[in-house]
Amino acid sequence: MIPVFDGHNDFLLRLYNLPGHRTEIWEGRAGGGHLDLPRMRAGGFAGGFFAIYIPSPAPTGLALGPALDRAMDAPPFDLPFPGGIPAPEAQPVALAMAGHLMALERTGTLSICKSVTDIRGAMSAGRIAAILHMEGAEPIGEDLDTLHVWHAAGLRSLGPVWSRPTVFGHGVPFRYPGDPDTGPGLTSAGKRLVRECNRLKIMIDLSHLNEKGFDDVAALSDAPLVATHSNAHHVTPSTRNLTDRQLAAIRDSGGMVGLNFATVFLNPDGRRMPFKGWEPILRHLDHLIAHLGEDHVGFGSDFDGAEMPADLGDVAGLPRLLAALADHGFDADLIRKIACDNWLALLERTWGA
Ligand code: ZN
Repeated sequence: MIPVFDGHNDFLLRLYNLPGHRTEIWEGRAGGGHLDLPRMRAGGFAGGFFAIYIPSPAPTGLALGPALDRAMDAPPFDLPFPGGIPAPEAQPVALAMAGHLMALERTGTLSICKSVTDIRGAMSAGRIAAILHMEGAEPIGEDLDTLHVWHAAGLRSLGPVWSRPTVFGHGVPFRYPGDPDTGPGLTSAGKRLVRECNRLKIMIDLSHLNEKGFDDVAALSDAPLVATHSNAHHVTPSTRNLTDRQLAAIRDSGGMVGLNFATVFLNPDGRRMPFKGWEPILRHLDHLIAHLGEDHVGFGSDFDGAEMPADLGDVAGLPRLLAALADHGFDADLIRKIACDNWLALLERTWGA
């Protein structure tokens, strides 16, 4: 089975929202969601980025709420922009989610990886290789002191924003049709955050950042540019997807894009409703490969954080997706690169070996 290393999941949010059920969820006895250990093993899921994400206050919390889901079923839509969350409110939530991942590590079935050597070691030992990632830097104060605490705790990847403002910058609101140029660039604290992440070799994630913020990171960062879970704006003109100009900047930096499986960012018509078959995925992949090259595209599933295509279903459906790529004409070497090898090479370029 071809292993899959994945750019983004929201499994820690699912654990956070169902307190007291970690073990039964991990062992696959709870059902629901897209990820658990038995289904990961069935799908060849070797590991990936596990996001700490601070839910917005109700009604835009888990999965943005049913009313907003309905809006995304009927484009055009322009969802209300969630307000910011102060660091003192975000910190305990972030600690709880990191605690879930550390508790899973103690079961011996998962490793929190801080290097590509760690990832390869976990994969060959049959443990899930997890990168501790933060999607939105709300838990980090403007002085950046807690960034060092998080680095010591294993944080190796950070998005300055989710789709709401932080002290560091501005995210894109969920809008279709729309382009990612939705507001101002990084704040001065955001620019200091980029430099400090470079020094600490913490990967910077551009998914959710608006276009001016993207350009600010591109101008400042000495690392490859990475969008862990975004798609092609040319195919699906959502604010969350990347324009061809952004793809060129990512390619020129030696960076990477993880294809997001969220139907709302895959469907060319912007509808969140699950589709059958693989056509939208193949169109996005063809476009991303044409603009980035075969070495700079991977997966960024958004498992446990979004509506999935019907024929994928959950993580156990990954072999069906890989079979669809083969049917589409991708050779075994390219499929291995997209499924896993490109992410590991990108992390070596970003972190060092
Ligand atoms: Zn996201």
